[in-house]
Amino acid sequence: MYCKGVGTKRADTLRKELGVQTAMDMLRTYPYKYTDRSRFYKIHEIEDEDTAVQIVGRVTDWHTIGVGKGQRLSATFTDGSHEIELVWFRGVQYVKLEKGIDYLLFGKPSRFNHQYNFVHPELTPMSKVTPQMMTGLEPDYNTTERMKQHGLNSKAVRTIVAGLMPDLKMGVPETLGQDILNHYHLMGLTEALCNIHFPKDTPTMQKARERLKFEELFYIQLQILRQMKQREQNEGFMMPIVGKRFNTFYHECLPFALTNAQKRVMREIQADLKSGKQMNRLLQGDVGSGKTLVALLCALLAADNGYQTCIMAPTEILANQHLETLTTLTQSLPPSLIHIALLTGSTTKKQRETLHEQLRSGEINILIGTHALIEDEVQFANLGLVIVDEQHRFGVAQRAKLWSKNIRPPHVLVMTATPIPRTLAMTVYGDLHVSIIDELPPGRKPVHTLHYSIQRKVSVNQFLTQQIEQGRQVYVVYPLIKENEKLDLQDLQNGYNELCETFPQYRISMVHGQMKAKDKDVQMQRFANGETQILVATTVIEVGVNVPNATVMVIENAERFGLSQLHQLRGRVGRGADQSYCLLLTRLEMTKETRRRIDIMVATNDGFRIAEEDLNLRGPGDLEGTQQSGLPFELKIASLSTDGQLLEVARQAANAILEQDPTLSDEFNRIYKRRLDIMRQTATNWSEIS
Ligand code: ADP
Ligand code: MG
Repeated sequence: MYCKGVGTKRADTLRKELGVQTAMDMLRTYPYKYTDRSRFYKIHEIEDEDTAVQIVGRVTDWHTIGVGKGQRLSATFTDGSHEIELVWFRGVQYVKLEKGIDYLLFGKPSRFNHQYNFVHPELTPMSKVTPQMMTGLEPDYNTTERMKQHGLNSKAVRTIVAGLMPDLKMGVPETLGQDILNHYHLMGLTEALCNIHFPKDTPTMQKARERLKFEELFYIQLQILRQMKQREQNEGFMMPIVGKRFNTFYHECLPFALTNAQKRVMREIQADLKSGKQMNRLLQGDVGSGKTLVALLCALLAADNGYQTCIMAPTEILANQHLETLTTLTQSLPPSLIHIALLTGSTTKKQRETLHEQLRSGEINILIGTHALIEDEVQFANLGLVIVDEQHRFGVAQRAKLWSKNIRPPHVLVMTATPIPRTLAMTVYGDLHVSIIDELPPGRKPVHTLHYSIQRKVSVNQFLTQQIEQGRQVYVVYPLIKENEKLDLQDLQNGYNELCETFPQYRISMVHGQMKAKDKDVQMQRFANGETQILVATTVIEVGVNVPNATVMVIENAERFGLSQLHQLRGRVGRGADQSYCLLLTRLEMTKETRRRIDIMVATNDGFRIAEEDLNLRGPGDLEGTQQSGLPFELKIASLSTDGQLLEVARQAANAILEQDPTLSDEFNRIYKRRLDIMRQTATNWSEIS
């Protein structure tokens, strides 16, 4: 197809900014919303800033303010009964206004000084208004700053797409089989593409959207499930032996009995390890449910069978802590049985060389490190098991990278405390089997969560004093927002100073992301040993840190944290036998959403409920990031937060096909195989995702 109105320059911009190379790519660039141009507003009907409106009226008066660059033009527009201000900041000299004629005004209202006005509205004399301008749903397209600089605003994109319509109407090849179209009552591709851009009416637009969403989700499922089925054919390392290391540890060193849930999970993993197939398993368990121990038991099994294990943590602090936990747990095992090592960004070059050597010779049984390990050039003698801790973003794509570490893929166990909403479980983790630890070790008391406005700081401080006098320790956490690290640090530093003044009798440590790993370590260590009573920190302590004597978690500016993060932070306390508390501090005035988050936190400790609420509150936006790092293809129209049901249906459809024909080699299924190949070629190269 030939694109009208697209010269080489524009074509270049479209390619760079939207990845659009062909007319079909352009047609696959869907509008993100529509403006209903059949509706006319009156000025008094304007009620928000999100909806573009059109109004018929006249300009009664105007004047320019200022000179030169800062010049602006202000005009008064009336619909006969009410008035509204129109403002231009740019191109003032090109705005030609005329009194006494009717205009069609089109634009998004903005709010200024408690009043609505229009900034840079489209103003067309009624004599020049075409009928198309006033009928139907008009598509709006996402554009980038660069596109706008090159004259490609939403309107320009609309014009380009409109130019493709005559050719499109001649028909494009279908991408779903007729049986699926019939069975799920889906619109054909040609009709769907016509109506996604220029819908006949709202119901037709919705049918078109549904069809395109289904297609997207269907191919994602087809890809993931096909991979899963293929992988199930993969030979995996055989680890049938339960040997000396596991047995000695289990019977002689384990300081407590496993919970029933831990036992069940171990059985599931052991079954995988001796199946002869590669394990790909997701271990979900709320904070404090004892996943680290499961990881150690698995690593001991691997070692008993002659294989090395690599454990990856999201931060250096956590990697360090894992090393410590595992070393302590295994300290009564003879050193000849187990060798655990740590490799992080702070490992010196010299240490590194020794480590590399010991890894290649097979001397090291367990290597602990940060996620950067998958990028590292380390080579193992016989890596048999990879355990990924606390990673919500370790999706399909990242796992694919692990394969390059070995000729044969190692077993993979991904552990997470963030309960994964069902839609993510089916996509980003759609190729994993799931194990769940749904039980906390005995004797834990649920954390009490309380909300305080900062006006009540005095009561908070009294409470902290009380707890510390009883021998307990306290975390005080400040939010970290990457965009302004300086300001965040300032917040943290101020908070630290304030605490020092309030509690001169106590010792206080501080950790944040910009400290050297070594200094961080020293500070963490002092707190963990009980040398300091208060730890002031940014969210670097969010995951995994374990100090059972700490019973209070104070979260400053709690309004700036998401629900999952709050839940994670709360999980740092309640790890010992004493009653623990989580204090959420906010300003007195809160938005509705903040209030809702705080209410949920106060009401429940149930991680699964919190995860679902989080998904509802955040909507699609935030999930998109997760999608990008974890999905085989980018989602253009479907959303993992709102299209859960359609996703289930698409998964069934994909599964039904693969059940019959796992490799998609039947003539009948060619259409799917070919489309997958095309999609894979155009998808981002996995090795480029970091
Ligand atoms: P998470 O699942 O959040 O990673 P951890 O592995 O850090 O949890 O375990 C939390 C705490 O519970 C640790 O102090 C650990 O020693 C302890 N723990 C783990 N399993 C048990 C058990 N079966 N009985 C008692 N305590 C346990
Ligand atoms: Mg953990």
